[in-house]
Amino acid sequence: MADNIKPPSMLGILGGGQLGRFFVVSAQNMGYQVTVLDPDKDSPAGRLADVHLCSDYDDISALNSMKKTCVAVTTEFENIPATTLEFLETDLIVRPSSKAVSIVQNRIYEKNFFKDNHFSVGPFVVITDRNSLDLVKNDMYPAILKIAQFGYDGKGQTHVANQKELENAFDGFDRKPCILEKKLSLEAELSVVLARSYDGKKVNFPVIENQHISGILDMSIVPARVASSLCNKAIDYAEQIASKLNYIGVIAVEFFIANKKIYVNEVAPRPHNSGHHSLDSCDFNQFDQQVLTLTGTSLNNPKLLRNAVMVNLLGDIWFRDGKLSLPNFDIFEGSANEVLHLYGKSEARPGRKMGHFTVTGNEMETNLMRANQIKTLLSKNKSKE
Ligand code: ADP
Ligand code: MG
Repeated sequence: MADNIKPPSMLGILGGGQLGRFFVVSAQNMGYQVTVLDPDKDSPAGRLADVHLCSDYDDISALNSMKKTCVAVTTEFENIPATTLEFLETDLIVRPSSKAVSIVQNRIYEKNFFKDNHFSVGPFVVITDRNSLDLVKNDMYPAILKIAQFGYDGKGQTHVANQKELENAFDGFDRKPCILEKKLSLEAELSVVLARSYDGKKVNFPVIENQHISGILDMSIVPARVASSLCNKAIDYAEQIASKLNYIGVIAVEFFIANKKIYVNEVAPRPHNSGHHSLDSCDFNQFDQQVLTLTGTSLNNPKLLRNAVMVNLLGDIWFRDGKLSLPNFDIFEGSANEVLHLYGKSEARPGRKMGHFTVTGNEMETNLMRANQIKTLLSKNKSKE
């Protein structure tokens, strides 16, 4: 399909969360217009977009409106129905494709894709019905049962220690298709954010080290402090995965390090929370790359200008003694090395991603110390209503 889409063409994005919001900013900075489709009238990206179609992702009249006004469409979250992407694909450039998204939005297809292509994955069992529970051997426990579709940020996951708990957890998921994964003893978690253009050119950001709390990303450290042999393997895997999916766009691959070995965890068909550091640490950020891949513009190799630590801000710190109370953002005094990003969400809820901050600088230890200090001050020193 025709490429090299020039500004001020209208680009479309499915999903209006914070990832979509940063895409809107990058696209508009490059001179494009953006239409956001998101059913939430108050969505972070919808509020900045040139056009906000406030409809469900399968609303035919909204999709037809996108077909009329946009030249190319991308997505900011993996739970967009693949049928929506297929529908748009008949008339528009859609990147990533419905085919790639349909594989990675379902943990069963995704795991089988990794296995069929000989990427190293941890032990897992596909659970489709009560009978498949009997196939689970005792050495799988402790394990994590993950619903095959529509989970994110640790949602749709339950830890199970034995067959009885597994049965209860499966019932708790209404016996919907699941993956059971052996719980690995993690030495580190990594991610690679990579952009692949329509002509197969790939550029990647440096490998990111990620720390999670209760299944939600808490902190990302760049570059990752793990052996370069493991980092190189991660980049190699991410490149191969993008090529094998015939992927066009920005893709993020998550990895586990256990027993000094690397395992692929999962793929996100979009920019990634762990890549947010690039907004403040790189010459071209992950959302710029998303615009470049979508419009068929030649890709720039992103450069890490300064080491970075990124910390997520969840809605929990918006509350004190059960009452709404803003975190103390006075800590941020406008330094280019300590940058706060808020996503413009009107309602704070525990566990909800409200924003993040990034500390950048050449000294990794100083970045880490300062990030931890800010984190503590924000959550303990809440002063304003
Ligand atoms: P999500 O879609 O919510 O990101 P993940 O499968 O990546 O789902 O799980 C979230 C986090 O839970 C991981 O980043 C990791 O910290 C932990 N986790 C998930 N699966 C395993 C596993 N098999 N072994 C150990 N920890 C795991
Ligand atoms: Mg994950």
